[in-house]
Amino acid sequence: MEQGRIIKVAGPLVVAEGLVESKMYDLVRVGDEGLMGEIIEMRGDRASIQVYEETEGLGPGDPVVSTGAPLSVELGPGMLEQVYDGVQRPLDVLQAQAGAFIARGLSAPALDRKRLWAFEPRVKAGDAVAGGDVIGVVQENVVIEHRIMVPPHLAGEIVEVREGEHTVTDTVARLRAVDGTVHDLTMMQVWPVRVPRPYREKLSAFEPLVTGTRVIDTFFPVVKGGVACIPGPFGAGKTVTQHQIAKWSNAEIVVFIGCGERGNEMTDVLMEFPELTDPYSGQPLMKRTVLVANTSNMPVAAREASVYTGITMAEYFRDMGYNVVLQADSTSRWAEAMREISGRLEEMPGDEGFPAYLGTRLASFYERAGKVRSLGSDEREGSVTVVGSVSPPGGDLSEPVVQNTLRVVKVFWALQDQLAFQRHFPAIDWLTSYSLYLDKVTPFWAERVSPEFRARRDEAMAILQREAELAEIVRLVGVEALSPEERVLMETAKSIREDFLQQNAFRDDDQFSSLAEQDALLRVILLFRDKALEALSRGAALDAIFSAPVRERIARAKYLSAEDLAEFDAIASEIETQLVGGEEEDRASVYAGGER
Ligand code: ADP
Repeated sequence: MEQGRIIKVAGPLVVAEGLVESKMYDLVRVGDEGLMGEIIEMRGDRASIQVYEETEGLGPGDPVVSTGAPLSVELGPGMLEQVYDGVQRPLDVLQAQAGAFIARGLSAPALDRKRLWAFEPRVKAGDAVAGGDVIGVVQENVVIEHRIMVPPHLAGEIVEVREGEHTVTDTVARLRAVDGTVHDLTMMQVWPVRVPRPYREKLSAFEPLVTGTRVIDTFFPVVKGGVACIPGPFGAGKTVTQHQIAKWSNAEIVVFIGCGERGNEMTDVLMEFPELTDPYSGQPLMKRTVLVANTSNMPVAAREASVYTGITMAEYFRDMGYNVVLQADSTSRWAEAMREISGRLEEMPGDEGFPAYLGTRLASFYERAGKVRSLGSDEREGSVTVVGSVSPPGGDLSEPVVQNTLRVVKVFWALQDQLAFQRHFPAIDWLTSYSLYLDKVTPFWAERVSPEFRARRDEAMAILQREAELAEIVRLVGVEALSPEERVLMETAKSIREDFLQQNAFRDDDQFSSLAEQDALLRVILLFRDKALEALSRGAALDAIFSAPVRERIARAKYLSAEDLAEFDAIASEIETQLVGGEEEDRASVYAGGER
């Protein structure tokens, strides 16, 4: 433990000298209170330190002690249901120590040292194991089984196993490595946050992360292990979308990083998340969630740490074989912290004052997403899907953080306040959003949903795009300028928007649609279009077609549940009957008038 002295304090940045043996990214304790910091630049014996707590009161001459180890997280039972700050201190423990206002220099272990966990071994003495192998499990709570793995880089023979109740630091197994040394294995691993956790192999990600939100799943899907970005103009529904993804998506584990939004927003996240119910288990969603949230008295620099703390925990659950969805809110605030620190380091600024390495930093964060085959011999597969939100000043999507993010993410859900004003929810603009995973998920859709799903999706998209063009003509010269076929298209586009895209997150019968329901819904909407055109060619009147009684049923079809899929067939035959088939009198109304 090397000790140095502060020579300068500049906001969250402290410069110290006398640290000859320290390295970049070593964790240090600053001042008499032992504030947490990380070395982010070394020049000779001079270290620039990013401090994760308020530096007020520090001054030249104050001590700086290097721990000689990088900023790391503790990984093991007890992470779930926790709310951590950016450097993985459990907020409830800090609060118990210091009251509502968290004092500086506190430390608390991330994992409870006293709590006992029932360790059920999955190996026995004599077994050969390697890094990543599961040596036992702990039922962490009613929802999640925690798999205890041999740390990466360790291999050998199990010489002892201790079943039963243990704390995270108790020895649960002993391993004799190839070189003969014997290692005590505990239920806890310590891992440096800036080093991605190793895996055996990166796999191609093609399985959709089903969110149950139709505009996402059908139009702009993300895959398990994919990367997506969502901007958040105020009030456009970012929070609702994030909650929907956390609750409904088919990922077992949720990691939410709240890196310092405006004013009270952080406390909103702290209040809201613990209130959410997991629709699958009926238990609080927190049972399968880890929350990382910077508190208001932590300076911006801590946002930097929180992003890495969060993704390292996500990777650890991935290594167990889980699908994890990680949401980082907001990466713009993280980038602003980078800008501030870079400015204090007097680095050469790039675009809009952001450091030149902004793009590389963002890219290397998103690169930690992915689907992998884990270390270990049991062919476990897991994934980390990253959904980063951006909050550009003034909603300007051309600014550097958004632009650098769009370079690396493959999905963009363009939340728009205009749509929110019109109460079109989710307010995800179908004309500017995109997903580069469409071709990846198409074979999966064809096999598991229906062979026509992709074609239906593309057709619906084409109709929406054409609607935007025709809307311009309508604005200029009125709807009369459109041909009857174009009017059918406009009516179909309206139906896609209202009966498919609009989805109420607060209605039990609408908040989640399975892929099968989404496909069935598109099928009837497009079938109506086909039959409308057919009826038209047979001389039916537009008004009559548009007011066919079955339309009411189509409009309500989104409230049908997965068990009602047969209902969609009934709607389809009603469309046939009312528009082109069945008894003369059934469709009489449609043909009344007879003119086009
Ligand atoms: P933001 O986080 O972007 O400021 P919110 O997510 O809090 O916005 O959404 C603002 C309001 O918009 C919500 O309180 C709700 O009334 C409405 N809203 C957003 N998304 C939906 C949705 N999918 N269904 C119904 N209402 C929604």
